[in-house]
Amino acid sequence: MSSIIQLLPDHVANQIAAGEVVQRPASVVKELLENAVDANATDIKLIIKDAGKSLVQVIDNGKGMSVTDARLCFERHATSKIRQAEDLFSLATKGFRGEALASIAAIAHMEMKTKQDQDELGTHIIIEGSKFVSQEVAVLPKGTSFAVKNLFFNIPARRNFLKSDTVEFRHVMDEFQRVALAHPNIHFTFYHNGSEMYNLPAAGYRQRIVGIMSGKTNEKLVPVNEDTEIINVQGFVCKPEFAKKNRGEQFFFVNDRFIKSGYLHHAVMAAYDGLLKDGSQPSYFLYLQVPPNTIDINIHPTKTEIKFDDEQALYAILRASIKHSLGQFNVAPVLDFDRDANLDTPYHYKDLEAETPTIQVDGTFNPFTDDKTNQHYSKASSGSGSGSGFSSGSSSSSVSSYSGYSKRVEPTASWESLYVGLDLDNAESIESSPFTFENEEVTSSLFNDDEVEQAGQKTYQIHKKYIVSPIKSGMVIVDQQRAHQRILYEQFLLNMTVNQASSQQLLFPLDLFYSSAEMELIEELKPSLETTGFIFEAAKSDHIVISGIPVNITESEVSLVIEQLLSDLQDGIPASSYSQNDTIAKSMAKSLAVKTGSYLTEKEQDNLVNGLFACKDPNISPFQKPTFITMRVEDIDKKFAL
Ligand code: ADP
Ligand code: MG
Repeated sequence: MSSIIQLLPDHVANQIAAGEVVQRPASVVKELLENAVDANATDIKLIIKDAGKSLVQVIDNGKGMSVTDARLCFERHATSKIRQAEDLFSLATKGFRGEALASIAAIAHMEMKTKQDQDELGTHIIIEGSKFVSQEVAVLPKGTSFAVKNLFFNIPARRNFLKSDTVEFRHVMDEFQRVALAHPNIHFTFYHNGSEMYNLPAAGYRQRIVGIMSGKTNEKLVPVNEDTEIINVQGFVCKPEFAKKNRGEQFFFVNDRFIKSGYLHHAVMAAYDGLLKDGSQPSYFLYLQVPPNTIDINIHPTKTEIKFDDEQALYAILRASIKHSLGQFNVAPVLDFDRDANLDTPYHYKDLEAETPTIQVDGTFNPFTDDKTNQHYSKASSGSGSGSGFSSGSSSSSVSSYSGYSKRVEPTASWESLYVGLDLDNAESIESSPFTFENEEVTSSLFNDDEVEQAGQKTYQIHKKYIVSPIKSGMVIVDQQRAHQRILYEQFLLNMTVNQASSQQLLFPLDLFYSSAEMELIEELKPSLETTGFIFEAAKSDHIVISGIPVNITESEVSLVIEQLLSDLQDGIPASSYSQNDTIAKSMAKSLAVKTGSYLTEKEQDNLVNGLFACKDPNISPFQKPTFITMRVEDIDKKFAL
């Protein structure tokens, strides 16, 4: 038989390699930015059009290339960064494979201009699908500019695979942020379709993080600093109360390279143990420096995963240093009830002078009457115990640990006093969440009115989770959370489609701050959100001003609702307006629905059951889970027959 093996022509090999290196415009952004950083640039501009699909351009003021290098850099395995295999173990550069430019040139139209400082003239090269179209001498500033146009022009299948501009833009944004966060000493600017997304002057870590995230980030950050022989940790973690719903703001950099590590993430989460609400995610920006020979960054083609020699030690150091920082900045005690308060180091009070105790005299106090006002007064003062003498008044709870009091005494220790003068009925309605339904009068589509038994109380709540109600054929058990989700979902969807939701005007407009990636999403969602009843007064570069909100939301729920929404839309905004509305309605229903564990008054239970059966689709929640089950009398009889 004749031999059949052939070597692939270079341009085919390059196209295949490109599949590994270049998945989407963001991959080009990453490679070009990293090359600019490796060229020691102090100023880097990123310019993209149509989320990078039609143009990705990176202009740097780095060291540039000679005429020969300018030509060579497009060859596969052409790199100036390593010479021998050993160099892999002392890498100080981002690149080293020498594949990126060859790969990109194989699948796009590329134009490069480059000049070294010492040269009079530079080189201007045009290359399309691996073919050199032209090479000229040109008058150029020092540095290099790469423009990559029409990505995947020769591989339509790959081009068609690209997601919407919103999604692709988000990926570009992610890559840009990672590189810009890793190199605060470089001035970065970023333009999308002609508008400036970022202009980040050279700065320190904190300023860079704030510049990238949003104006309000600064106050949320707690510094972390730890220097040991095997690792140096610097950076910031966020205070637990600012933890978010999604994992969008979690960054590890190892030797100035963004990496992903489930293991190190776990170490951070362990440091927050007991401090976070269920499922919430702390933001962190952690910069680790380790000796280059103790890591292997070669295990992943796009190099976001690395292997450490001594993972366990890193884990322990990371966890301890973050725990220490959180403790030092006095953010630990909030939810950690089991700790001994004597162990708290009251740094917070370190430089404060002790205040002279003040004595409050109740002028109206009359020891001979035993009315409720007096009772209130004496209870409150005995409740805060020795702490109250130390500070004057309100902050007694946090001070109690300082004055050697071994148990934390919350002001609510005398909680009864809060209710003095209120009758019990009122007290109860304070506790439970005040939700009501607009459509109180409903005709149940599932059960006729007369089927529901009329006598006395019709619903019972069990385990703060289910509502049980007798019906003629037996009983119905409603899952309160899912039922409420269904009701809210249909309400929102209806409002959005008929476009006449009512709003409540806010007395003081709400200012909410977001990162620019989130702002992009919000911009896009604005029209749909407005149909639910939101009124946006303005959308600035890093925050929105809300002056009106839907009637079924309280002011304090707004940021939660929007955050949930952003997190639900991580994977992109649906293209059709119907599914966009659907997603928003689902997300808002999820955030706002009464949760398992909430106590409902009889009236609320009633509204919930009626509201559910007035829905178009009462059987399932918006997330396709059953909302209720029924039990026929016969079924119950059967159980007793045993
Ligand atoms: P790698 O970065 O892995 O070396 P690339 O294909 O990304 O491979 O780049 C090939 C070579 O081209 C680099 O090693 C570098 O010498 C040169 N180069 C690429 N971009 C620049 C730039 N912006 N400035 C100067 N030299 C560059
Ligand atoms: Mg490179």
